[in-house]
Amino acid sequence: MEKIILIKYGELTTKKDNRKFFIETLEKNIRNLLKDFKLKISKDRVRMFIETDEIENAALKLTKIFGIHGIAICHKANSNNEDILNKVLEIIPQDKKTFKIETKRADKNFPIKSMDFNNLVGGHVLRNTEYKVDVHNPEVLVNIEIRKDFTYIYTNILSGSGGYPVGVQGKGLLMLSGGIDSPVAGYLALKRGVDIDCVYFDSPPHTSLEAKNKVIELAKSLNEYSGNIRLFVIPFTELQQAIYKNCPNDYMITIMRRMMYRICEKMAKKHKCKILINGESIGQVASQTLSSMVCINEVTNMPVVRPVACLDKLEIIEIAKKIGTYETSILPFEDCCTIFVPKHPVINPNISKAKIYEESFEFESLIEKCVQNAEIITNFEKEKFTDLL
Ligand code: ATP
Ligand code: MG
Repeated sequence: MEKIILIKYGELTTKKDNRKFFIETLEKNIRNLLKDFKLKISKDRVRMFIETDEIENAALKLTKIFGIHGIAICHKANSNNEDILNKVLEIIPQDKKTFKIETKRADKNFPIKSMDFNNLVGGHVLRNTEYKVDVHNPEVLVNIEIRKDFTYIYTNILSGSGGYPVGVQGKGLLMLSGGIDSPVAGYLALKRGVDIDCVYFDSPPHTSLEAKNKVIELAKSLNEYSGNIRLFVIPFTELQQAIYKNCPNDYMITIMRRMMYRICEKMAKKHKCKILINGESIGQVASQTLSSMVCINEVTNMPVVRPVACLDKLEIIEIAKKIGTYETSILPFEDCCTIFVPKHPVINPNISKAKIYEESFEFESLIEKCVQNAEIITNFEKEKFTDLL
């Protein structure tokens, strides 16, 4: 194989004790997300190397995998002077004017020190091309990594997504609505190494099949960063109608969200998720004031992580566009939060009042039904859902 992909690990190189586990998780994720590719992977403590037939395609896919700092498509040479010098001349672009050589000697037995090797290769380029050296701002940086068996040479590096490999932190349960915020929250959690399952509260016939398919589409987008996502669709209609019937208008949303949290806690325990994650952002709507959060959060002891809590809507939108969820999120299908919205939802809800209203109907059995009857979707293959939107 003439070319090979070199991967520079992300932040994980600083985590000494966990390094082996991090690197193994990264390899597992790469194999999973690139399962359609024929791969040969080798790795050590600082680098991973991937050989495959479809090298450009694979490199592009790798830019979505967390735990990677940079991806370089390298040319392979044998680790001897002649081969390396020839290869550098062969790959240095024709249309640029200035260069710099940067050698790394992973094999300390290689007889020439890195600085001396820079000079040797630099001299060879100067003699054989029109190039000039510029050590401060070169148009072409030629990286040479000398290893025992082979030397890898590259002039370009693609930025990786950073973060930790998905899964190194265990799993969280993302409350995924069809909006802009929750997919971004999921993405940010994945980036910190948290694997996710998603939960969506579905209220047919008040919410449409399109709304559900939109959430499936969003889960599919997030799955490109994970590969393991499951979506639990909760049949929420009966419980929502009971709230509608039994609770005062201004507390409907507060109580609905308390019910959602209760269901999520049960689902999380059932599916081994350690935390809940959602797209709440401080002050965005009545149910996201600090007082509302206190009242809603009261029903669970599980940590609730809100990755976008302190971002402005515009900042959230920017991320949504970057990760490719924005266009789906703005499709105009209503979710269960928007259909029963009261005119004046309470902004400073009171926990005791919420409890009193909840006592007016038998909600435990309805919650249990939601958990028992959740539909589990795991197959996010492309052909299946796009036609439905
Ligand atoms: P988003 O843009 O993510 O829909 P939002 O600004 O519309 O958020 P809310 O509707 O108040 O805000 O919801 C806050 C959070 O609660 C959402 O980000 C999501 O995590 C969760 N949530 C809301 N509705 C649902 C739903 N139908 N299913 C699952 N989670 C939901
Ligand atoms: Mg919403």
